[in-house]
Order: sequence, then structure tokens, then C-alpha cells
Amino acid sequence: MFFDAVDLQYEYEPQGYVLEDLGDAWYLPDFWLPTIGPNGMWAEVKADRDNWIGADLMLALCSKHTRFAGTILGPVPYAAGGWPSYDEADETDGWALYFYGGVDRPYFWCACPKCGRVGFEWRGLADRVTCGCYPPGVVRMHTASESGILRAYEEARGARFEHGERGGGMS
Ligand SMILES: [Zn+2]
Repeated sequence: MFFDAVDLQYEYEPQGYVLEDLGDAWYLPDFWLPTIGPNGMWAEVKADRDNWIGADLMLALCSKHTRFAGTILGPVPYAAGGWPSYDEADETDGWALYFYGGVDRPYFWCACPKCGRVGFEWRGLADRVTCGCYPPGVVRMHTASESGILRAYEEARGARFEHGERGGGMS
């Protein structure tokens, strides 16, 4: 529902993987997001922020396929008051752990103010969204509280109660 609300392309459980680093464990990530990051991103959704089961699987998957990013997404944030505050972000904020070779944080859903393209970028920086509207590193514009993103959080929260916990309100 969140992905739909921001008009983000996604595939639900398109492919599973064998992870040799974890004793040939089988892992089927929840979502594949082809337009996020340089080459696409896997996303695992965890409705309970304190339950990060799956993080070791995602880390192993991203260590095996280093061209691709991956993330663990926690509960849909409350948008009221301009969530999230990048200044106060810590490892439990931003809705996510992010893997791209290693672990990095905090990453936020954000959007380019010029063209509206949705990204999942470090501190929600607009110049990191892959549309190319802003030169990388020049315009340090935090767009995690862009109105379309906040509205999508609210839509996703509402939908979760209508349709149950499946997918954590993300799709
Ligand atoms: Zn743009």
C-alpha cells in the first residue's frame, strides 16, 4: 500500500535464494524494488520493530550479490509532525536497516522535489535519488518529509488495519 501510494514499482516475492554463508539457508525476500538504488533493492518487511529476524539473511544475500542493495523495513512510521527527523535519527529510526556491501544507516523514503521520483536514500538526501535532477553532493536537501511521502505513510497505516498485517502495509 505504501509502494502503491508513492507509485513505486515493486514485485512481491519474485525469487528465492540459497545462501551458502548460512549453511545453504533458503531465503525469499518480501519485495524486489527495481528502481531503488543503482541496481535495485530487496526489502524485507517486519511489522514489529523489535523483531529483526531476517536481518542476517538479508545481510548474507547482499554480501553474495554486492551489486544490489537490501533493507529491513520496520513498522510504517507515524507521519504527523513531519516524520522522520533526520537530525535525531538513530538505528531504530528511519524505518530501516540498509545493506549495500555492509550495513549503513539511517535511510529514509524520500522524493526528488523537481521530478517527484521516489528514492530510499541516506538521510533522505534528494541529490542521491537516481533521477539526476541535482548534482550529487551539491544540493544537500533532506526530503524524507516530502508531502507525498508523509501522505503515503498515512495511507499505508490506514490500509493495514483494513487488510490485516500481511506485508506490514507496504504494498
Ligand atoms: Zn528528479
